[in-house]
Amino acid sequence: MSTSLPRSTARLKTLLSGYYQDLGAAAKDPSRKVAWCTSAGPVEVLAAMGFSVYFPENHGALLGARRLATNLIAKSNARGYSPDICSYLTADIGAYLSGQTPLSAAYGLEAPPKPDVLVYNTSQCREVQDWFAFYGREYGVPVLGIYSPWKVETPLPREAVSDVAGQLKRLSEELAPIAGKKLDFDRLASVVRCSAQATAHWKGFLETARRRPSPITFFDATIHMAPIVVMRGRQEAVDYYRELLDEAQGLVKAASAAVPGERLRFYWEGMPNWGKLRFFSDLFSELKICAVASTYGHSWAFEGLDPERPFETLAEANLRVFINRGEVYKEAYLKKMVKDYGIDAIVFHEAKTCPYNTNSRFGLPQRLQERHGIASVTIYGDLCDLRCFSEEQTRTQIEALTEQLAPLPRRAG
Ligand code: SF4
Repeated sequence: MSTSLPRSTARLKTLLSGYYQDLGAAAKDPSRKVAWCTSAGPVEVLAAMGFSVYFPENHGALLGARRLATNLIAKSNARGYSPDICSYLTADIGAYLSGQTPLSAAYGLEAPPKPDVLVYNTSQCREVQDWFAFYGREYGVPVLGIYSPWKVETPLPREAVSDVAGQLKRLSEELAPIAGKKLDFDRLASVVRCSAQATAHWKGFLETARRRPSPITFFDATIHMAPIVVMRGRQEAVDYYRELLDEAQGLVKAASAAVPGERLRFYWEGMPNWGKLRFFSDLFSELKICAVASTYGHSWAFEGLDPERPFETLAEANLRVFINRGEVYKEAYLKKMVKDYGIDAIVFHEAKTCPYNTNSRFGLPQRLQERHGIASVTIYGDLCDLRCFSEEQTRTQIEALTEQLAPLPRRAG
């Protein structure tokens, strides 16, 4: 995929290379501790306690993007992990069972760093618990979890916030003997401050897409989001996103269009299809469609993190994440995004192996159409398993929607 952000794309490679090489060094150094963590957190608590933090979901996405996942999934299936469950999980466990990792070619790591502890959070799904339990058995290390109440509406229930905040505090106590030290509250405040700044810059970057024509696309967001997941809480992430925002604002000033001749503006709802991003990017460019925003990208635009109230505001951010919200909230959120970004239609990606981040199965597209006149299409695929996806069928669906919204001029003759 071409990028309209060359400066940041070059910096991204260096940043991620440094992150992974440091993880490799941490895994070999007995004085350092490695924690594996889920994408929505609680990375801030782990980072504040001195853990080097690795994210298996990012590894799953990499396996998908490199199109290695489909073959690896079969290895997990043979160990009893169903082809119907999360393909990040089955691809990642398949890679472990095969002794393969794209981290070798990309960053020179022999293998993902061996964990000293695994920490999950069920705010996104139940899969992560079973995924980490597998590695807990394999490596013989503790597996700890935060259990978040699901489907919360607005306002956030106070009892849910204090429940999760209490679990985060208890987690820090359980981690202390593994880390070899107690949580330093000044350090936690500083990590939360960095997370707040990095996520604010990330949000600012995504919001440059409000401009018409948009200077960036959803595909740019998928390229530049890795540090907001894996390096949240670090000063390097703050610096990276400040410069990314600066580069995108430069494009706004120059009236640059990510899709020259932008005719339609789409919203991507659901997981990316990592192995087919180029297909979608090319198809949308050909039809002069700019995918300007996505639930996925905005899921890391946390708001309200406060270094003075770290546990409470981390709990709130954790509960507020879209995947964890009720249907009333989701409908209102999508309606607002359509208005704010001048969206012509929503593409709902029904990901076969991720029902949690699929929002087309319980009538939401129909309610958005009937109550708010919002057009949409539901396409079928997966985050990693390419067997679930048909290019021909998807192209036909997107072309039909485009034709209905804004027919392309017919060629003469
Ligand atoms: S939210 Fe979906 S993609 Fe993410 S870990 Fe859970 S099942 Fe997998």
